[in-house]
Amino acid sequence: MANRRLVVTDDIHRYLVDHSVREHDALARLRAATAEMPDAQMQIGPEQGQFLALLARLMNAKRCIEIGVFTGYSSLAVALALPDDGRIIACDVSDEWTSIARRFWREAGVDHKIELKLQPATKTLQELLARGEAGRFDFAFIDADKPAYDAYYELLLQLLRQGGLIAIDNTLWSGRVADATSRDANTTALRALNDKLHRDERVDLSLLPIGDGLTLARKR
Ligand code: CA
Repeated sequence: MANRRLVVTDDIHRYLVDHSVREHDALARLRAATAEMPDAQMQIGPEQGQFLALLARLMNAKRCIEIGVFTGYSSLAVALALPDDGRIIACDVSDEWTSIARRFWREAGVDHKIELKLQPATKTLQELLARGEAGRFDFAFIDADKPAYDAYYELLLQLLRQGGLIAIDNTLWSGRVADATSRDANTTALRALNDKLHRDERVDLSLLPIGDGLTLARKR
């Protein structure tokens, strides 16, 4: 294949992190605290958090939605990049994980920017639409239960303004989307979403090999 990408070995990845990541102290402490948890691999990498924050700044984003908070790394990274009147609606169902998130949001002094919604995200998104919030959000990040990604995407597309951006995590799923023998529910859901997005004329699209694959979809 022409213009083939670089294969990012562990050494290259370490170099990339060491030579580009500027991690806020609260983010570093949150990452350390999360690393001790059994589900620590669910946390995005620091280079990805910094990339999301850069996107939010590039767009001058003020109103954001996050689906899947876990211990709050991505929401904290984006909240630190938002202006003081910026807001994130953060959706999750775990009180246990998000109690850690809340502690670090508070420590970093950005808790006033983040509104946590502890209920199924589809319910929160539907409530926002019912409140007349369609077309009023700038930026969204999806990093949650994979079979529901498509439902989140469709609701978020309604909530975003024209030119708004949805970032979707894990869209390469450790490469399993490209392996025809992988037919589990998560892989199948991600593969179907990737195929749909590829044809979706409502958005401009890019699928980046950052982390576990990050898709950017900009609402036309
Ligand atoms: Ca993820």
